[in-house]
Amino acid sequence: MAQSFSPNIPRSKSPFYTFSLIIIIFCIILFYTLHYRNNSLISNKTSQNANLFRNTFISSADNSTISDYLRTLTLHPHLAGTPPADKTIAYVLNHFRNSGFETHVKEYNVLLSYPIHTSLSLHFSNGAVKEIPITEIGIDQDSIVTPYHAYSPSGSAYGRAVFVNHGEENDYAVLESQGMKLAGCVALVRRGGLSRNAVVEKAAEKGLAAVLMYTETEGFNNGVERGTVLKGLGDPLTPGWAGIDGGEKLKLDDEEVVKRFPTIPSIPISADAAGTILRSLEGARLPYHWKETLKSKVGRVGPGPIMINFTYQGEKKMSTISNVFAVIRGYEEPDRFVLLGNHRDAWTYGAVDPNSGTAALLDIARRYSLLVRKGWSPRRTIVLCSWDAEEFGMVGSTEWVEDNLINLGSKAVAYINVDCAVQGPGFIASATPQLDDLLIEVTKKVKDPDSSDMTLYEKWVANNKGIKIQRLTGADSDFAPFLQHAGIPSIDMYYGEDFPVYHTAFDSYAWITKYADPYFQRHVAVTGVWGLLGLHFADELILPFNYLSYAAQLQEYVKVLGTALDNIASISLHPLVTSIEELVEAAKKAEDEKKELSSEKAGDYHFALKRRILNDRLMFAERGFLDPQGLKGKEWFKHLIYGPPSCDYGCKEAVFPGISEAASRMTRTKETETVQHEIWRVARAIQRAVYVLRGDLT
Ligand SMILES: [Zn+2]
Repeated sequence: MAQSFSPNIPRSKSPFYTFSLIIIIFCIILFYTLHYRNNSLISNKTSQNANLFRNTFISSADNSTISDYLRTLTLHPHLAGTPPADKTIAYVLNHFRNSGFETHVKEYNVLLSYPIHTSLSLHFSNGAVKEIPITEIGIDQDSIVTPYHAYSPSGSAYGRAVFVNHGEENDYAVLESQGMKLAGCVALVRRGGLSRNAVVEKAAEKGLAAVLMYTETEGFNNGVERGTVLKGLGDPLTPGWAGIDGGEKLKLDDEEVVKRFPTIPSIPISADAAGTILRSLEGARLPYHWKETLKSKVGRVGPGPIMINFTYQGEKKMSTISNVFAVIRGYEEPDRFVLLGNHRDAWTYGAVDPNSGTAALLDIARRYSLLVRKGWSPRRTIVLCSWDAEEFGMVGSTEWVEDNLINLGSKAVAYINVDCAVQGPGFIASATPQLDDLLIEVTKKVKDPDSSDMTLYEKWVANNKGIKIQRLTGADSDFAPFLQHAGIPSIDMYYGEDFPVYHTAFDSYAWITKYADPYFQRHVAVTGVWGLLGLHFADELILPFNYLSYAAQLQEYVKVLGTALDNIASISLHPLVTSIEELVEAAKKAEDEKKELSSEKAGDYHFALKRRILNDRLMFAERGFLDPQGLKGKEWFKHLIYGPPSCDYGCKEAVFPGISEAASRMTRTKETETVQHEIWRVARAIQRAVYVLRGDLT
């Protein structure tokens, strides 16, 4: 019946119809032929030329270019959320664009914090008053933010000054054992192992009214170390989700938000200013073991008799921050992401922290673009990430990780972070253990910047009397959300243990050229390792992950734990031991498969699929260490092997953060069940990694 309504179309096929059909079939055949031919060609080409491109990457190093980038980046201070930071955003974006890459900017609307007014004076018993400078003397104060602690509450205090060393529990124990009454006093703290937030919270717990914090440095006693006192990572108004414009935000007085801020005010002061206060103290003698590193001439800890009059007024306000990205699409596995990241925002000029790293990232963009012009296209997608507002608490990277959690969880191969690229001499690297082999391999390809005839690897080994790869246990740079929240294998690296102008107005281009790296050769070395790692992760047919290293590291941790829990009969480490044994077996099997699949048949479709399956197992195994419930008391941190340690009783024994935390509580409560429970949780996490690595269902 329907036919009767159809227009008058002849039943026989028209010549045009037949012609179109032939063309379509021809196109389909041509597409498949070219696609598979091309794929196999590119596969061969990629594997054969990978070395060539790596060599080109290394030989295109240029110290003067990195130096130029750094000079431009540090022409003016660029604190996150302030107008001058926009210029830095534009500079990085333009550079990525001019390198020929696909670029984009992802903005978030987040709560940042800035100072309005600060004053500090000493009141002596004879009635004299002495104003203490709160800024760095001899620095143009108009362009630089007054030293402050981001997210400190506003407030005033008038109380006796007391020196509490690093402000740790055992420091207070020393003072309390002498019968000292600290309530209402103003604490002077010398920065040590605790985070700023932990120092202020501990002081509040002890009844102190306010905290003045200083850092002892060699030769830069006029510098003041700015910093954040925010607890945890990311925008306080959007805990666990991204702070997108128009999205859900908690109110400032919400319990979840309030608990992220300290309850008493604090500011940083210079070592010079701290010296003035310390010399005015009377009262109890300085405990002998506090003297060791204390360079200020001081003999008493107070409290008083001098009184401190202190006021800090700040504002917390909504600000727009911008993460900037360059994307180099992968040719064969565009849905697998290799991420190289560095933050761009700085407290002041940020020459070391973080723009030595930004200059390195820009140079990687330049050199990758050179490779592209020479015919390179990565197998997997590479993303160069420039984060904002790291200094406030890894805000830019955390919001982005929360925004992209599922895509990152299912597609991110590795995250390689560089914050301060160069602080001084000596290479330092941290990694999740399955990446150790690659890290070592790559450092053998890079020249040591401080000797003419050694590789970076040889010098690194010589300096440390062996290989020393640290672990990502702290949450002190942008790798934290990637590893500790999303379970992505990560690396972090830099040159130089620390540097005296950290977070001060003196962290300038001039300081770098005078002290840290006059010829920018150390910058070249970090750029070399960083860029090569990116090339390996992006181009190797089989991901260079070795879980035998992970298992070996976990076995070490169990030994340390065993010693720490030595004579507690009711606690068994057996679940851990068993799950690690299983990890060893699964890792061995994966290594065998890697050998089998890395053979010549690069373009074979069947082999390509098998490799993809193995790569997925290698990539996802790290996710097994995540636990949806997270670490007790800091549930946002999901990784049970690497996460911020509990610092209540010192931050040193940081193996298995959940177990360490429970064990430190046990020393008071004598309660062993929680420790055993945490041991089981870690054992189950390792078991999950084993299942992923094996790849089959139970
Ligand atoms: Zn930094």
